[in-house]
Amino acid sequence: KRPVPSDIDISRSCVPKCIDRLAREIGLLSNEVELYGKTKAKVHLEAIDRLRIQPDGKYVVVTGITPTPLGEGKSTTTIGLVQALGAHLNNNVFACVRQPSQGPTFGIKGGAAGGGYSQVIPMEEFNLHLTGDIHAITAANNLVAAAIDARIFHEATQSDKALFNRLVPLSGGHRTFSPVQINRLKKLGIEKSDPSTLTEEEITRFARLDIDPESITWQRVLDTNDRFLRKITIGQSPTEKGYTRTAQFDITVASEIMAVLALTSSLEDMKHRLAKMVVATSRNGEPVTTEDLGVCGALTVLMRDAIKPNLMQTLEGNPVFVHAGPFANIAHGNSSILADKIALKLVGPEGFVVTEAGFGADIGMEKFFNIKCRYSGLRPHVVVLVATVRALKMHGGGPSVSGITYLIIFQNLELVEKGFCNLRKQVENTKHFGVPVVVAVNAFKTDTEAELQLICKLAKEAGAFDAVQCTHWADGGAGAVELGKAVQKAAEAPSNFRFLYDTELPVVDKIRIIAQKIYGADEIELLPEAQHKVHLYTKQGFGNLPICMAKTHLSLSHDAEKKGAPTGFVLPVRDIRASVGAGFLYPLVGTVSSSIGVIEND
Ligand code: ADP
Repeated sequence: KRPVPSDIDISRSCVPKCIDRLAREIGLLSNEVELYGKTKAKVHLEAIDRLRIQPDGKYVVVTGITPTPLGEGKSTTTIGLVQALGAHLNNNVFACVRQPSQGPTFGIKGGAAGGGYSQVIPMEEFNLHLTGDIHAITAANNLVAAAIDARIFHEATQSDKALFNRLVPLSGGHRTFSPVQINRLKKLGIEKSDPSTLTEEEITRFARLDIDPESITWQRVLDTNDRFLRKITIGQSPTEKGYTRTAQFDITVASEIMAVLALTSSLEDMKHRLAKMVVATSRNGEPVTTEDLGVCGALTVLMRDAIKPNLMQTLEGNPVFVHAGPFANIAHGNSSILADKIALKLVGPEGFVVTEAGFGADIGMEKFFNIKCRYSGLRPHVVVLVATVRALKMHGGGPSVSGITYLIIFQNLELVEKGFCNLRKQVENTKHFGVPVVVAVNAFKTDTEAELQLICKLAKEAGAFDAVQCTHWADGGAGAVELGKAVQKAAEAPSNFRFLYDTELPVVDKIRIIAQKIYGADEIELLPEAQHKVHLYTKQGFGNLPICMAKTHLSLSHDAEKKGAPTGFVLPVRDIRASVGAGFLYPLVGTVSSSIGVIEND
């Protein structure tokens, strides 16, 4: 067999077709496409309205077993499957994937364009700046962060009247409230629109948010792993008069604004979500939002281009939307609803849209169903579960360094069979949602035929709709034709989709259901901070949001060292945070942290 060149060499050896030609081929009108050079374009949301009566295509989600730190090939399989279903099996197709963060891209994990002969091209464009969406999120996020500290400082150092005059400045000789300020007044029960008529008491209530600095949950962000920014002291300049505080930087893709972008359904909806984001609590226990800070209009303007999905292509010329890139631990780890919706219309009722859910099925897939599908109303037809020999050997107890087994190059059926417990559990996990699952065994050149066949046999016995080997990394779409055929068949099979939990259940019950049914925990344990947050968020009216567990992806449990399918453990929930604009609560499990560099690739 011919050797496979490096990913970058393959990417560079292929000349992509002009993106405006691809846009025409897939049925977009020229006024719906905004070109960013020759290989990238943004697609306007008007396309959804134009295609409103067109029935949706088949919706496929790619997930995986609990991976090694290198990843087991979900992105590669997403692209390989789309290539196979496209030219090789003659379907209209679309891949919808996340935009990678520079954290993993420059860390041990590397880029996320896929690999071998199953990639999105050009790789550098895909992995780096793309069309600037991550920069827009960084700008919007940090505007909120700056507004919080400025507000605390001004409230501490100025009189009520001076604050009021700063918030409602003189213009043309008189003061006028902005629409956002009128909303805030309504929230305070003050039905007035003329600033000159406010009483002193009303001026105080309007001007003072009275943020408790200890309660601030909004952090500054940067899309670089810079470990020395994990904990910082801000406000050191003499101009801040001693108002210093300990703060932290998170990675941009962990910003709630990224999750909002991924979950929003229109510009209007994004505006609402950006206004609802809770950044802190006031001293009297009220949630403080970006609307209260008066910055939500600016956020929407900063994000107005980012909301449009980015069109690129596979090595074999199939369309790909690259849009939004929330991490799968502190956020829900799925690309945007808007990209999926446009793609499902464009492929038509017989076509296929393949999207990817981050990390293993216990994390990205669970959130794909319980969060993304809940908000989008879309119902998937098929789950593709990616497995590898190397990861199953690790789960079977193979000696490893940083989770990568030594035994990769030797056949060891016993280890594969022992490690199969992880794949069995992840197949079971997909079954909770009532969607047929096809196991894709992503073949590496060191795997033996006996190992690959064993996994397929065991997966079918464990209840998978089908299980097939694929070689799309080495062979492109041609290597995933069997997988494509299995997916086509599964898409015709009856699906009985259901959510895992009802959002109206108490917060603790929802966490317990995920921990017991998906992770295999016996019980959960809420540490004091988490208990406090359950009470706080329930009181503030956020108790009915879906749950987004922030857990390590390297184990089904909270302990990255526990491989296979651990049982008999108690899942510790350290803290709970709220992403009210995005629309979920995220419990922090075990040692997971949101600060830069800790995530994914420390
Ligand atoms: P995931 O999306 O699950 O994290 P990726 O698709 O990004 O995984 O793959 C992780 C890495 O493994 C990439 O560098 C990719 O090129 C490589 N890879 C994937 N499949 C194969 C394979 N069959 N053989 C060799 N390398 C592979």
